[in-house]
Amino acid sequence: MANLGSSRESGHRQIRALRTFMGLPRGEVTDDTDFAIIGVPSDAGSSFRAGARFAPDAIRDRSRLLGCYNPALDVDVFEHCTGVDCGDVPVVPGDVEGSLDAIVQFVTPFLERRTVPVFLGGDHAITLAELRVVAAQYGPVGLVDFDAHSDTMDEDNGRKFTHGTTFKRAVEEGLLDVCHSIQVGIRGSVESRDDARGAFDLGLDLATADEARQRGMLATVARIRERVAGAPVFLSFDIDFLDPAYAPGTGEPEPGGFTSGEALDCIRGLAGLRFVAFDVVEVLPAMDPSEITSILAANVVYEFLCLVALDKAGPS
Ligand code: MN
Ligand code: MN
Repeated sequence: MANLGSSRESGHRQIRALRTFMGLPRGEVTDDTDFAIIGVPSDAGSSFRAGARFAPDAIRDRSRLLGCYNPALDVDVFEHCTGVDCGDVPVVPGDVEGSLDAIVQFVTPFLERRTVPVFLGGDHAITLAELRVVAAQYGPVGLVDFDAHSDTMDEDNGRKFTHGTTFKRAVEEGLLDVCHSIQVGIRGSVESRDDARGAFDLGLDLATADEARQRGMLATVARIRERVAGAPVFLSFDIDFLDPAYAPGTGEPEPGGFTSGEALDCIRGLAGLRFVAFDVVEVLPAMDPSEITSILAANVVYEFLCLVALDKAGPS
């Protein structure tokens, strides 16, 4: 039987029965809070299947399987870090721009304390607001975006703010340090040749799924590290980076993606970079009957926390 009770008396998460991420205390950020879990139950930016608004609850629920110690990285999250689960942003159902404003308002006080926010999406439109808050604190940030899609359209069905336009708007608003930004895993059909060039035209580097597979994941991780080294970095993880075989519960599944093991290796390979915020987006519980997508998303978030913990632990 899985150990659902915490053996630690550290005070960080004694009560596994709490329906928070990994049983973290529910609460407010203080000066001592290293990371904050923040749910963003918004799917107003979806253009195909909706339902990502239910993902924060699903990811929190599946996080109860997780333990503190990560053998792959030799780190215990709670030995080095304190974190809280701040609950969900009071987004405006059906209203993308209203929800973006709500995210900025909710999260700004956390960033002022230099707490690392870890967002549970929501569709990918929410990342624009997250970047607005982070850039207000750190200036333009580097981006590592694991995704099947570039999300660099100018308009999506006539709309300027959707999960398909996020990074175009982010560059226009000066939120990204494009020279320290890279998208990884891009694949599949798009509307036009121009759409396929969107990321390059904005100055982002782009490792397609084909390239990543041909060169291998180790070489891909090295390329990411080289691109973003030295900059404060936002790590955005669209769950459709994975092949639909591994993550069927998502809004716009794209064949030809990566395995769960490859995805976890990619994140672990980024230890030591200067991450200032993370999100996982596009999980769609209604299309995830076996729960493998939300279990994976919970593990992705856990690997993020391990990167924060390694950062706090310092060089060993
Ligand atoms: Mn996306
Ligand atoms: Mn995507």
